[in-house]
Amino acid sequence: MNLREKIRNVPDFPQQGIDFKDITTLLKDGKAFRVAIDMLSAHYQDKHIDVVVGPEARGFAVGAPVAYVLGAGFVPIRKPGKLPAEIISYEYSLEYGKDALEIHKDAIEPGSSVLIVDDLLATGGTTMATVKMVERLGGKVAGLAFLIELSFLNGRQVLAGYDINSLVQY
Ligand code: IMP
Repeated sequence: MNLREKIRNVPDFPQQGIDFKDITTLLKDGKAFRVAIDMLSAHYQDKHIDVVVGPEARGFAVGAPVAYVLGAGFVPIRKPGKLPAEIISYEYSLEYGKDALEIHKDAIEPGSSVLIVDDLLATGGTTMATVKMVERLGGKVAGLAFLIELSFLNGRQVLAGYDINSLVQY
């Protein structure tokens, strides 16, 4: 199964000059979806993962099935104002301006083993914000898993020291 062939390139989205990697073409293909989830999960089969944490929204589509395969729980990371109970929030810088993410305060048991899953690693900003929140709640980050890694944006350097896995690299 060539997963790379299942990912659609959309030029100039969301703005001029960006070559967007669209995973909806992979997700809608039952065989490709299953292979991708099985391959991502395989690496963590023996790592005793307690919870998978995934940022909204594509991190849900990839993270929740990985959690199911591993027999782990799933914890959502959301944009501000979406989570109903008590939250902690983390603000981080973008190229232009700022963004914030939130997690429920009681989502992670201190000392639990956490796998962070998202569709795509670009600059690493989203994942680093997620790592910070998980660690602030006392979770131990056991790994970072992505369908796609845009290697030329050097997210790996930002996340140095963490175990990183990706299925397709550009
Ligand atoms: P980072 O924070 O720069 O690493 O960007 C990663 C986040 O942006 C992930 O949550 C992705 O879903 C999203 N993202 C960035 N570029 C793309 C893309 O080309 N396709 C799909 N998602 C992207």
